[in-house]
Amino acid sequence: MTVAIYPGSFDPIHYGHIDIAKRAAQLFDKLIWAVYARPLKDIMFSTEERLAFMREAAKDTPNILVMPYGGLTVEFARQQGAKVIVRGLRVTYDFEIEYQTALANRQLAEDIETVCLMTSLKYAFLSSSTLKEVAFAGGQVAEIVPPYVEVALRKRLAQLQDDPGDKVKVISLLE
Ligand code: ADP
Repeated sequence: MTVAIYPGSFDPIHYGHIDIAKRAAQLFDKLIWAVYARPLKDIMFSTEERLAFMREAAKDTPNILVMPYGGLTVEFARQQGAKVIVRGLRVTYDFEIEYQTALANRQLAEDIETVCLMTSLKYAFLSSSTLKEVAFAGGQVAEIVPPYVEVALRKRLAQLQDDPGDKVKVISLLE
């Protein structure tokens, strides 16, 4: 049985992430869709919120298991018996980052391979930060996130906008 993990911050998920998770689930016996609990960047949604979005998105795909993790991705992969780390590739900028991360992970764990899936064309320029920026500016996001994410996003942005002391927080979240 080949187990793969698809790790990331997923703050929050959008259709680009969901597309990669579902396509990867067709390639491996089990896909652990893993949310990094404490990324170095500021996050908008708690680990529990991000997990809930992912569970909802994966509810019709029985071989996707949604889990949180902390620490080294390769250690988490080993604990789960996963031999593959799945990542998504959008434009060339992703390639450099993913290439470096894959080589660093190979140094740490020779037995674990990184497999990158190319984004579907319609999601090529979609990122969580673009999504937050569009939503913050009042733009339409219905085509890029599931309805439950859109509702949560609008609610969170309204809370942040209501609190003038949180201007700096909003800016760092949008970066
Ligand atoms: P990170 O894990 O680097 O904080 P994300 O959580 O946004 O970033 O993304 C997790 C993974 O999903 C990464 O491999 C990223 O390249 C991939 N990804 C993000 N957006 C898309 C997209 N629109 N299409 C395909 N893959 C994507």
